[in-house]
Amino acid sequence: PVVTRFAPSPTGFLHLGGARTALFNLLFARHHGGKFLLRIEDTDRARSTQPAIDAILSGMRWLGLEWDGDVTYQFARAARHAEVAHAMVEAGHAYRCYMTAEELAQLRAEAEAAKTPLRIRSQWRDCSPADRPADAPFVVRLKAPREGATTIDDLVQGSVTVQNAELDDLVLLRSDGTPTYMLAVVVDDHDMGVTHVIRGDDHLNNAFRQLPIYRANGWPEPVYAHIPLIHGSDGAKLSKRHGAVGIEAYRDELGILPEALDNYLLRLGWGHGDDEIISREEAIRWFDLADVGKSPSRFDLKKLEHLNGHYLREAGDPRLAKLVGDRLGMTDDPALNLLQRAMPYLKVRAANLNDLATGAEFLFASRPLVMDTAASLLLTDELCRLLAAAYRALDAVHNWDTEALDAAVRRVAEEQGVKLGQVAQPLRAALTGRKTSPGIFDVLALLGRDESLGRIADQMA
Ligand code: GLU
Repeated sequence: PVVTRFAPSPTGFLHLGGARTALFNLLFARHHGGKFLLRIEDTDRARSTQPAIDAILSGMRWLGLEWDGDVTYQFARAARHAEVAHAMVEAGHAYRCYMTAEELAQLRAEAEAAKTPLRIRSQWRDCSPADRPADAPFVVRLKAPREGATTIDDLVQGSVTVQNAELDDLVLLRSDGTPTYMLAVVVDDHDMGVTHVIRGDDHLNNAFRQLPIYRANGWPEPVYAHIPLIHGSDGAKLSKRHGAVGIEAYRDELGILPEALDNYLLRLGWGHGDDEIISREEAIRWFDLADVGKSPSRFDLKKLEHLNGHYLREAGDPRLAKLVGDRLGMTDDPALNLLQRAMPYLKVRAANLNDLATGAEFLFASRPLVMDTAASLLLTDELCRLLAAAYRALDAVHNWDTEALDAAVRRVAEEQGVKLGQVAQPLRAALTGRKTSPGIFDVLALLGRDESLGRIADQMA
């Protein structure tokens, strides 16, 4: 059975690249009827924080990236990691290295002078236990293979080979007995039964250091899939410089729906023909790592907003009313009701929740309305005369529904010998304080008779 995992380090919030990695892991597992696990790699005690953990968990829930079983916390497993390292020493696959800081500094200086990469060659690698110093501090190092080469058949990168001579005897346990990241990842993946390691391609080099740990322990090796990172629109690796990288900013500041972000991240680096709109069910059915491209994909906010607009129009009005109400601080039932009734008109052109919220502001504006500049320019003497005529006609409307309102305003235009738009423009300004809004008859219907007539009267004075 397939087991995948997402293994974020809680040193920052969940970012776009991490969310996409999690999504690919989830889809691959679901596609194969396997499990998708979550492991928080919190071994860096100085940089791991609880707010970051909370943000990762809530971000994943928001995106519908539900994991199976309990969350594994890496730091809590340190004793197990150490136990494996000691067993490896016993079995001769690792050794205690007593090299001093001075000796290491010397090696480093030599490598630098020779302009060659630093490769630790410890004299303790082949020393017999009898020759070990009694109680000097030591680290535990992996006895990495030096002959031959290691090849990884990566599901995304293809076959990649590294000469073993290029690999170090990496540290498994530090001198204070704490496990290194490289050891912890392998032990955890093994213990969690992970069959497929799907992660960013910045970890490809690590795979060559991690495989020997599997081999030394005689553990089954995972299948690797290293997916390209996400780049900004300028082609550079995505960073703060490109704007928001944390997914909560897409939720809170940019007003993106989770299904839109999911769909966007899915299509970033993976495709199914020309399909743009792909549901979670379809994604699970179709997802295959073989279709993940090798080159980095570029993040494009315009495309994300385009998808978001689609999902806004698909979304239920009660849900949108709630989301928009939260943004406007309007959360009582009458407000939510009004928002819900307005949603079909508001969402026609909106690209994000902010557009919806801005579009909905007029519903709750208090009288007299503050006109924006474009709207105030519409309230000329000439147009105000038409506004007064409209007022009289609307005041006479008994059945305050769009049909009757439509007929009444059209009659005004005819009687005044002007186009409908010339009546609609000052009306819109008076009713919404803006030059653009949903259709004027829908606005009248939403606001209701008293509020509408009141707002018009305010601008006639
Ligand atoms: N904790 C690592 C990171 O956040 C991921 C390690 C892995 O997936 O093997 O980059």
